[in-house]
Amino acid sequence: MEENNKSTLKVNKIKDGIVIDHIDHGKALKVLSTLGIDGGEDFTVSILMNVRSKAVDSFKDIVKIEKRVLSKGELDRISLVSPGATINIIKNYEIERKFTVEIPDRIVGIVKCSNQNCISNNKEPVTAEFTLESRSPLKIRCIYCDRTLTQQELYHKI
Ligand SMILES: [Zn+2]
Repeated sequence: MEENNKSTLKVNKIKDGIVIDHIDHGKALKVLSTLGIDGGEDFTVSILMNVRSKAVDSFKDIVKIEKRVLSKGELDRISLVSPGATINIIKNYEIERKFTVEIPDRIVGIVKCSNQNCISNNKEPVTAEFTLESRSPLKIRCIYCDRTLTQQELYHKI
């Protein structure tokens, strides 16, 4: 391929890995941080922010991560950061599987309770746990102190 080929200016298709699409615009970096990815890894990460989404005529972010798989826990994290995100699993340049993330009914060890006096925020070895109260609008409830967090509130507690 020519060095100055126009296609090299675009973000290339990935061979194997994950494309996280339809991320709420502005949340791509939060998705990466919740996955523990900071760029110090040995795989390539492409971030596209404020891409026009033709389907819904709005803006979205896209994250492409090469040579990476996502665990169930990581998918749960993404679902809480951006509930409408879609996951494309890429194998040999083809989409092998595509699905929308799903918010789990029980959210364990992902979100911290916003109540400072909650037992899950004390030194005792208690893992923060929430139940899903409502998908849309997103609302979760702490099983220990009953505090509820909205999507905006929990976003800063992931
Ligand atoms: Zn609590």
